[in-house]
Amino acid sequence: MAAHMDSPEVRRYNRIRRWLGISDFAVGFVFLIVLLVTGWSASLRDLAYKLGAQGFSLSLLIYLVLLLAISKALGIGLEYYGFRLERRFQLSHQKVGSWLWDEVKGFLVGAILGGVVVELVYFTIRQWPQHWWLLAWVLFMGLFVLLAQLAPVVLFPIFYKFEPLEDEDLRRRLVVLSERAGTRVRGVYRWKLSEKSKKANAALTGLGHTRRIILADTLLDNYTPDEIEAILAHELGHHVHRHILKSIGVQAGITLLGFWAANWALHYAVDHHMFEQLSDFANLPLLALISVVLSFLLMPALNAYSRFNERQADRYAFESTASIEPFISSMNKLADQNLAERAPAKWVEWLFHSHPSISRRLAAAEAWERKHAVHPQV
Ligand SMILES: [Zn+2]
Repeated sequence: MAAHMDSPEVRRYNRIRRWLGISDFAVGFVFLIVLLVTGWSASLRDLAYKLGAQGFSLSLLIYLVLLLAISKALGIGLEYYGFRLERRFQLSHQKVGSWLWDEVKGFLVGAILGGVVVELVYFTIRQWPQHWWLLAWVLFMGLFVLLAQLAPVVLFPIFYKFEPLEDEDLRRRLVVLSERAGTRVRGVYRWKLSEKSKKANAALTGLGHTRRIILADTLLDNYTPDEIEAILAHELGHHVHRHILKSIGVQAGITLLGFWAANWALHYAVDHHMFEQLSDFANLPLLALISVVLSFLLMPALNAYSRFNERQADRYAFESTASIEPFISSMNKLADQNLAERAPAKWVEWLFHSHPSISRRLAAAEAWERKHAVHPQV
């Protein structure tokens, strides 16, 4: 892989991004530990009860908002640094005001979704202390599926503008690809990413009626129709292989494990007199800690699973397009445009990357071509 050495600039950018991610995780982790060990969580709970006039549900919501606000205050410096980093490396020209507005919206969306989840969780704990974790899991997964379906039409538009793709040539290409796949995606949308970032991106999103491919304008405006077709074919590969459904299945398994562990930890904490009862919501940081630790431990496995899916979608793109060249040139463009590391260290890819490195994807494309190429006429 020495042929694709990354420039010092690319390596520096990616190293800083990694450190930002790790620092953000560390700040959140330490915050939760401190809350539990110092008893500040109990003080926050008492404050929330005072503000919430002793009502359980309202006080729980207030407690959550206080918790989220403090954690935002602790993390905003790192987030601002991340925003400046994108500008420093010419990857974004978003203004501070626009970034701040996104932060506000993100906080509100997080508070609303988090509010629904914690109210459901503590409702089940109070109603069915024996089997709450099973019930909470069922409700959580119901919410998760609903959100996966609503995200493209409700969540994403809060942050980005979308419009149906107008390009007739591209639409026709997609129809041909879809017919060959024997399936249909409901729509292709132009995703106005350029207001926030110069990076290119594309994705398959939604469930059922909201299932759609979104293509960033940063991609549509800079790539040839053949290259966009190769990327469409990759996204269609995710659809054909039912990757969203499978990922929800994986999520269901992990969440079940999480709720089981949460139940165990809450009982342990009550038995050891850290809390008086299961439904004392001062134990919320303990639940959050379980979810954080579990995601951390499972990250390499989940990323490996995601890379497996990406390879499958790539293979689908090789098989369903006339030539491998547009795929190769689109990968090269993506790497340059996004300052992606073409050949990151093995452990970095193994731990952090949801996609195989560009050099691996190119190698797979070239290997596929060698194996399947129709020999050119002399
Ligand atoms: Zn993909």
